[in-house]
Amino acid sequence: MDSPHGTPAPLAIVSAMQEELGALLALMPDGRRVRAAGRDFWCGHLHGQPVVAVLSRIGKVAAATTATVLAERFGVRAIVFTGVAGGLAPGVAVGDVVVAAGLLQHDLDASPIFPKYEVPLLGRARFDADGAIADALAGAAHALLREPAALLGAQAVAAFGLHAPRVHRGLVVSGDRFVSTAAESAALRHALPDALAVEMEGAAVAQVCHDYGLPFAAVRTISDRADDAAHADFTRFVAAVASRYSAGIAAAWLRSLSKK
Ligand code: SAH
Repeated sequence: MDSPHGTPAPLAIVSAMQEELGALLALMPDGRRVRAAGRDFWCGHLHGQPVVAVLSRIGKVAAATTATVLAERFGVRAIVFTGVAGGLAPGVAVGDVVVAAGLLQHDLDASPIFPKYEVPLLGRARFDADGAIADALAGAAHALLREPAALLGAQAVAAFGLHAPRVHRGLVVSGDRFVSTAAESAALRHALPDALAVEMEGAAVAQVCHDYGLPFAAVRTISDRADDAAHADFTRFVAAVASRYSAGIAAAWLRSLSKK
């Protein structure tokens, strides 16, 4: 959607945590703060693209409110979510990146009236991510992860054991629970065997974007394995690793758009 004056509508980048938004805002020095719905929306430019960057806060309702305001008030033309997630599938390790191909709410269950996970009256449980944006995010993630030390420094690579991080693409599931027991992650793996990662916002934003006909994509750095040993130093990992990946991947995506 372009404005009547020919300026392109902005792209939205949504983060769940302050550290991630901070890394992005550092790349957006012209960011101007607009208050709405108790949130700060930062409107500026990154690699020449008009961008609205915002903290969604944690959980599905907070994320859905944020996405709705982005659609209604800021008229964004696409939403990208960046954040951290717990790895579910075997081989999805701390420090890997997951690009969502589709998203589902693992805690939505109106059965027996509707099939488990299905969003009542929408007739679907899974929401596809936009293929072109997901391709671009995966490309950017591959490029960054080839040399994690270049982005994070050798010390962080050693501290978090990020020697051969990988990029995965597939199902990401969301729910209003921080999954932090082996029993719960095993139950999720059993119920949804193709789920790669679990987090608390993505599928809610995907549903709002579906309602508005907006392209949506999500990229998550794995911060923990959603088990009893959920990452020892979650906050430090987010600050030292995930926020840099998120900002780096988002910036590389915007740079690729500017070249077109
Ligand atoms: N202990 C952290 C909790 C943050 S909530 C703190 O005090 O700051 C977790 C955030 O990271 C959410 O935004 C969620 O989307 C994501 N996340 C990371 N690992 C997760 C997991 N194992 N289960 C659910 N969400 C997870």
